[in-house]
Amino acid sequence: MTEQRAHGFNTRAIHAGQDIDPNNGSVVPPVYLSTTYAPEAIGQLRQGYDYSRGTNPTRDALQNQIAALETGNSASGRAMTFTSGLAAENALLMAVAAPGDHLVMGNDVYGGTHRLINKILGQWHLAHTVVDMSDLDQVDQVMTARETKLLWVETPTNPLMKIADIAGLAELAHRHRALLVVDNTFATPYLQLPLQLGADVVVHSTTKYMGGHSDTVGGAVVTENQEVADKVQFQQAAAGATNSPMDAYLVTRGLKTLGVRMDRHVANATAVAEWLTEQPQVSQVHYPGLSTHPQYELASRQMKAGGGMVSAQFSGGAPVAKKIAESTRLFQLAESLGGVESLMNYPAEMTHASVAGTELAVPDDLVRLSVGIEDADDLVEDLRQAFAQLRDS
Ligand SMILES: *Cc1c(COP(=O)(O)O)cnc(C)c1O
Repeated sequence: MTEQRAHGFNTRAIHAGQDIDPNNGSVVPPVYLSTTYAPEAIGQLRQGYDYSRGTNPTRDALQNQIAALETGNSASGRAMTFTSGLAAENALLMAVAAPGDHLVMGNDVYGGTHRLINKILGQWHLAHTVVDMSDLDQVDQVMTARETKLLWVETPTNPLMKIADIAGLAELAHRHRALLVVDNTFATPYLQLPLQLGADVVVHSTTKYMGGHSDTVGGAVVTENQEVADKVQFQQAAAGATNSPMDAYLVTRGLKTLGVRMDRHVANATAVAEWLTEQPQVSQVHYPGLSTHPQYELASRQMKAGGGMVSAQFSGGAPVAKKIAESTRLFQLAESLGGVESLMNYPAEMTHASVAGTELAVPDDLVRLSVGIEDADDLVEDLRQAFAQLRDS
């Protein structure tokens, strides 16, 4: 018997979950706005659909597409999508953790993730410890000292672009009988496949690169662990933070171009990172695709390329960082990331304002760039004119 060759990433992005409509042949699966579905008879659903909080054909198209991308088309891969990245994380935590459980997370996780675990789930008695995820010995010590249910990892981290060793952490988590959760929002499945490196669950903010056009908020949980998948799916119907059909459609459309967009994000981010490295005002550039990144070797092993996010620190401190953030024209000063347009962020007072003064606080001489898919020359020129304003002031 000949084994069918598995399709490549871009083919899966365009075709997985996107079968033509059986009723009229529509090539793009329609957006099913209907909230309710008529059964053939009492107790006999058509294709499993009854009410859209729990199940919806447009959401299914997206879930199948994400599962095919993140699990390499594994038959056991399942994705569940939600109304935001945080809603997806909350559903996962509600599904797999119970009061009294302990979670270990990185000291530079997304601020909203820290707030969810600290302020909301803390009230439900989910305990947590914050560690430096790049130090496997420290993670091991914390997990040896206290029984741990979940190890929560983000890589590359935001905004310092530190890399955590997914395979090493998976081995560690499993030795301690914990689940390894990886937030794959920054890398996307095009550049990094945590489940293949041993992670148990992947979470996403589809708001970012997956949607890719800064026009829809959403999130996803992906896993090949059927017990976890069943529990998260139950959360969809029973707690109800599922995404709308229109939001599901927008992410589906964005995902079809994820590969080509990421290639351009990487090329542009590399050009921007290299230019920044040459500027005397810049004390440090953080980009995992640069050979000067302290974890370049690890990054190259587990990621296909460095991604679209770059951050830089300035020897002139906070005033210079803020001046640059406010002086670019193409790079818009805004929170969020991962869209086609370039964005500039001053984390200390924008994205990371909620963690100021905590162990997650970020340097105040740092700007974070979400490098878009415009022409690289124009982006570098925009930075050049912003740097020129430093000299004029
Ligand atoms: C934005 C983001 C989230 C939260 O997602 P929302 O869609 O904003 O709720 C989680 N993790 C990372 C890494 C993010 O960038």
